[in-house]
Amino acid sequence: MVCPFCAHNDDKVIDSRASDGGKVIRRRRQCLKCKKRFTTYERVEELTRLTVIKRDGTRVAFSRENILRGVQAACGKRPVPEDARQRVVDEIEEEVYRTYEREVPSAEIGQLVCLKLRDLDEVAYIRFASEHRRFQDVGELEREVKELTSRVKDVKEQAKLF
Ligand SMILES: [Zn+2]
Repeated sequence: MVCPFCAHNDDKVIDSRASDGGKVIRRRRQCLKCKKRFTTYERVEELTRLTVIKRDGTRVAFSRENILRGVQAACGKRPVPEDARQRVVDEIEEEVYRTYEREVPSAEIGQLVCLKLRDLDEVAYIRFASEHRRFQDVGELEREVKELTSRVKDVKEQAKLF
């Protein structure tokens, strides 16, 4: 913390206590240069509530659990470790909070899940994509599968080189 007296940027905490029922931590600090004391307050950042707008126009509160359920269902018994599944959900959650302020269309979340699953596990990806992404037509799904197949072929070709 920058000292409010001399602007030196180094201090030590000499006392730390919770107040407001544990919602605020108050710290007494001492500037290491001028030795004067000052106080800082630490509190949890208010989370903005995100609302998900579903395809039919209804609104529900954003829920990490819902994303996790979707990912778990798509992965099923696939050999995808639990921590990898959780990590994907973390990344999706972070990205949604970073990109949207108040409202997020459910289709956008579905799209993110698709992108993440595609890198995680092909089968999980296809399962999720075909179930939830509501492809415009069967042709789109076929193109996706074709693209995926060629990606896998590319990887195999690449692997031969080493
Ligand atoms: Zn100072």
